[in-house]
Amino acid sequence: MIVMKFGGTSVADAAAMTRSIGIVEGKLKQKPIVVVSACAKVTDSLYGILELVAAGKKEEALKITEGLKQRHLTTAEELGAGEEGAAVVLARTSWMSDFIEKHCGSPVSDMDKAHFISMGEYMSSGIMCHGMNARGIKTTWIDARRMVITDSEHMCGTPDMEKLAVATKAVIDAEYKDVDAVITQGFISSTADGEPSILGRGGSDYSASLIGAAVDAARIEIWTDVDGVRTADPRIVENTVGISKLSYEEAAELAYLGAKVLHPLTMEPAVPKSIPLFVLNSMNPSSEGTAVMSKSCIFDGVKSISYKENIKVISIYSLKMIDTPGFMMKVFSVFANDGVSVDLISSSEASITVTVDKNQVIDKVVEDLSAFATVRVNDDKSQISLVGKNIIGVRGLLSKTFGALVDHKIYMISQGATYLNLSVVVDRPELRTALCRLHKAFFEN
Ligand code: ASP
Ligand code: MG
Repeated sequence: MIVMKFGGTSVADAAAMTRSIGIVEGKLKQKPIVVVSACAKVTDSLYGILELVAAGKKEEALKITEGLKQRHLTTAEELGAGEEGAAVVLARTSWMSDFIEKHCGSPVSDMDKAHFISMGEYMSSGIMCHGMNARGIKTTWIDARRMVITDSEHMCGTPDMEKLAVATKAVIDAEYKDVDAVITQGFISSTADGEPSILGRGGSDYSASLIGAAVDAARIEIWTDVDGVRTADPRIVENTVGISKLSYEEAAELAYLGAKVLHPLTMEPAVPKSIPLFVLNSMNPSSEGTAVMSKSCIFDGVKSISYKENIKVISIYSLKMIDTPGFMMKVFSVFANDGVSVDLISSSEASITVTVDKNQVIDKVVEDLSAFATVRVNDDKSQISLVGKNIIGVRGLLSKTFGALVDHKIYMISQGATYLNLSVVVDRPELRTALCRLHKAFFEN
């Protein structure tokens, strides 16, 4: 068995779905479990509708819903998904309209929100399923809620690995009979009590590997719209090169440090069973893509440069820190109590500098820290990370890095304890140049 996950752009419209179905068709002998995202941008619209519902803007919410209905109906029709394909769209969008009428202007529970947000994947998977059957690929549609079981954090569930493994195996065993393929949704899950939940934005990759690990899949394929993972973001850096192999740890590190190709948790379920993961391009299926596997097969060295364009840097300074046991604990308790998660950390005798994501609200942290230290916040900074296995072993790592960045101010340097990354913080307006210079130094000679 293999898992084939198709992201939003790979199921964006009938043309994309046709390409993706063609890819599945070529692999029927390997018994594919197809996992799909919502059609491109649909999940964004669904979150948008929930905001309108909260603000009591019923007409606008209904109008967007109508737009989604027309778009999906067109996709279903062009794909040849027949009346059944159209019926999926009509049933789901009519449910959405009822939801809007019922909840508009009143508070909506996280469980109901998760239910609403899952309509994108329910529609794309339903259309794809009927499109596959229309092409003679006998396919069964499975509700992912029967398999992917989470805790009761409805809008960003944490999988219950044991329950999930048992449920997924049982469902796949029962449903994968006399068919060529099965199809299910990424991102969608349910609590142990059967309440709707979701895995959080971008969670379809994670669904694919959770399901793949549960059924001991031979491989997990993540089909996206780029030729695998590259040496840097090709939208910013020219001359990037595809990476043919990465370790699970490198891929996770890249994802955590800003690369957008994979959800950071995707690797986790695949590791204990050493299931290889492939990042492939559905728009260019013959390109090699990237294989993600155990680190024993991977050479040491810098593989890729990732970045976070917009981060906040918080500098905490206090002379009391010198020789005072427990000062660090005091500082990080503030972050913990105020619910702010920290990315990079560097420290000296009398100061600690940390970075946090731009979306984190830090007013309370700053106020609480200011009670016992001097605090400075700088929010026009970017973080750049060189990522690769045993990066400290790279000859000339620092001279190349600093040589490339001689003209830039470096506000912070941090090296992960697993020797997987070296990160620097620079001024945001200089991000592009800094990235290009680093790429040149490490990959273009
Ligand atoms: N459709 C969901 C999102 O846009 C999940 C995914 O595509 O991975 O976040
Ligand atoms: Mg994604």
